Amino acid sequence: MNYCNGSWVEVDLKRLRRNVESIRKGLGKTRMIAVVKSDAYGHGLEGMARGLGAASVRNFAVAYPAEAQVVRREVPEAERIVVLGVARPDDVPMLMAERITPVVVSAEHARLLSDAALAAGGRLKVHLKLDTGMGRLGFVCPADVSEAVRALKEPGLDVEGACMHFAIVEPERHPEAAEGQARKFAAAMAELEAAAGRRLFRHMSSSRAALLMPECDQDAVRIGISLYGYGSAKADGRFATEPILQWKSRVMQVKSVPAGFAVGYYGAYVTERPTDLAVVSCGYTDGYLRLLGNTGDVLVGGKRRRVAGRVSMNWLTVDLGPDSGVRAGDEVVLLGEQGSESVWADELARHCKTIAYEILTDISRQIERRYLE
Ligand SMILES: *Cc1c(COP(=O)(O)O)cnc(C)c1O
Repeated sequence: MNYCNGSWVEVDLKRLRRNVESIRKGLGKTRMIAVVKSDAYGHGLEGMARGLGAASVRNFAVAYPAEAQVVRREVPEAERIVVLGVARPDDVPMLMAERITPVVVSAEHARLLSDAALAAGGRLKVHLKLDTGMGRLGFVCPADVSEAVRALKEPGLDVEGACMHFAIVEPERHPEAAEGQARKFAAAMAELEAAAGRRLFRHMSSSRAALLMPECDQDAVRIGISLYGYGSAKADGRFATEPILQWKSRVMQVKSVPAGFAVGYYGAYVTERPTDLAVVSCGYTDGYLRLLGNTGDVLVGGKRRRVAGRVSMNWLTVDLGPDSGVRAGDEVVLLGEQGSESVWADELARHCKTIAYEILTDISRQIERRYLE
């Protein structure tokens, strides 16, 4: 019997390559920056960086300097690795040595990074991060554009580009929100480029903006969720992609029980008829959210089966129905497809009142990621 202690994740690299191709075709001459922060949205940073590198992706974005180092190691020939978060002066020698490009978020940040670069005997390549309405990191536009201009002049910085991030991408219902941000960006860029005396490398759109607002393309777009196959399933935008991650486990025990049998903590599920129950090796410690108790479906024996009762720390139980034929050791799909059925992250997200991003990034880092060629 093929027992396995715990669940595992499978990432389909063939499908990843198809996704990359579809996005590339849709983008035309706009470059793609692959966003691989948060362990590549739970897909595993090393494996994904390698897979993207093999698909000739050369531009990447991450949240932290340490993630950028992993990308540099896996894709030595990467053209650009942008750190979207706030790099610290201590990081600067490493960033220079490994040709990693942090963003600069304020005048003070610019000065600190510049001083650190000069102390290390060089200049640090950076992008300016402009806040045009996201209300998060960056120089507020137009209020702080003059400070961004000053950052351009820092002797230890080599400002290669500038970027922004959309807060709202609803071109059908609220086109004015994104248009307003794009206009502020354009105005700030005119001022910055005049001061710099040269063009800067620009990027502003993420997946949804790239999909629905091609007119916002700049030199590059930062594509995260679409690479992983969510948010662009229908071919109503410029590209269509498919999920590449499946999460699987095995049945640890099957038991045939009578009607009126209480399952799990507080007996939150009670069988209505004689039935088979399967105990599956996966729980909330693995990132299978407790909110899925009595609401989520898993796939066993090619069929959808409801999670019975509460999800425990390491286990969940499913009601298989009578005479299921399922046996200990059988494969269970927590997220993915089996036969003609599928359960994807957007479905689990709906049950949990969240988004596919959170379902994916919640899958525990301790779970093995397997990459299928
Ligand atoms: C995460 C992130 C992205 C990617 O967003 P997706 O919706 O996953 O495409 C792009 N830009 C910034 C600044 C981000 O933080």
